Amino acid sequence: MEISELMKKASIFHGHLCPGVAIGTLAVKYALDNGFQFSPNEEVVAVVENNNCSVDAIQVLLSCTFGKGNLIFHDYGKNTYTFYNRKTQKAVRLAYKNPFKWKKKLSKEEQIQLILQKKPEEVFEIKNVEFDPPNFARIEDSIPCDICKEDTMSSRLMDYQGSKMCIDCYKKMKK
Ligand SMILES: [Zn+2]
Ligand SMILES: [Zn+2]
Repeated sequence: MEISELMKKASIFHGHLCPGVAIGTLAVKYALDNGFQFSPNEEVVAVVENNNCSVDAIQVLLSCTFGKGNLIFHDYGKNTYTFYNRKTQKAVRLAYKNPFKWKKKLSKEEQIQLILQKKPEEVFEIKNVEFDPPNFARIEDSIPCDICKEDTMSSRLMDYQGSKMCIDCYKKMKK
């Protein structure tokens, strides 16, 4: 798929056109051209180190989504994207290197065009990395919290003075 078409899809999902979505789209373009594909069943896992506009391009264009669990967010504040392909056991990491010297004030539209004209290699530091993807999303039992009675994933229940409670109730207890 052409980059303009990818960008169009991503911006419809995201809600607006912006340089962030262009950066995410360019990262996806590289992934699609290098052995990663749209992933309805968790074949591809994306690990992102930011939660800005760019990540919406990854969700809609690669189907690495928050709900399926094949989008993992680390809150590191870095424009870095790692893709794992469970089929080929390949992994690649793209780190944004901000190659743009925005000399004069460019409009958003001009910035977007500039980003989309670049080769991914010009915009990202790209390297193959070890294949050690996060585990598949697990389905596990839910147990009611002793305090609020809301069903809670068993692995997220906290133990407090002999009671099992959800994280929300636990935090209130600890205050
Ligand atoms: Zn945006
Ligand atoms: Zn609770």
